[in-house]
Amino acid sequence: MGDRQPRLIGHWPLNTDMPSKTQIPQTLLDDIHAHVEAAYPEESAGLLLGRTDNGLRVITAIMTLPNAREKSARHNRYLITSRDMLHGEREAMKRGLDIIGVFHSHPDHPNHPSAFDREWAMPWFSYLITSVQNGRAAGTRSWRLTDDRSKFEEEELQVETNKRNEMRR
Ligand SMILES: [Zn+2]
Repeated sequence: MGDRQPRLIGHWPLNTDMPSKTQIPQTLLDDIHAHVEAAYPEESAGLLLGRTDNGLRVITAIMTLPNAREKSARHNRYLITSRDMLHGEREAMKRGLDIIGVFHSHPDHPNHPSAFDREWAMPWFSYLITSVQNGRAAGTRSWRLTDDRSKFEEEELQVETNKRNEMRR
């Protein structure tokens, strides 16, 4: 893929006058879509950086990551290593941000969490899942694992555009 190094994209100002939900700038969502489309038909993943303020979760940057799984399993498994997380935490700290979640793609599958996702997920994090159909991003939804780890619940993903706030799935 030529994308072996973590790469930080974007650094957006906070907008704190919103109710509790997860917010992402349209341009960052476009960056995620471009990244997962480029990796198709393999899964790809990255970290979501930002801040939580009064219950509002704001994604202000993403960090793309190389897929750490062995090649034969890459089409249906992503894995973010502890080294990736450490690197992500360092980069986030430098910018006064936190890691607030993970994004990954489901090539030719719906943007619902899989059993594998639930097994590896951590409570509190936001999990953005993008369905990629025939190489094109076909919708992103955000999920959070319940504290008892029994299931994912969908959370509202608010896509921030220049003109106005838009709700998308
Ligand atoms: Zn998944």
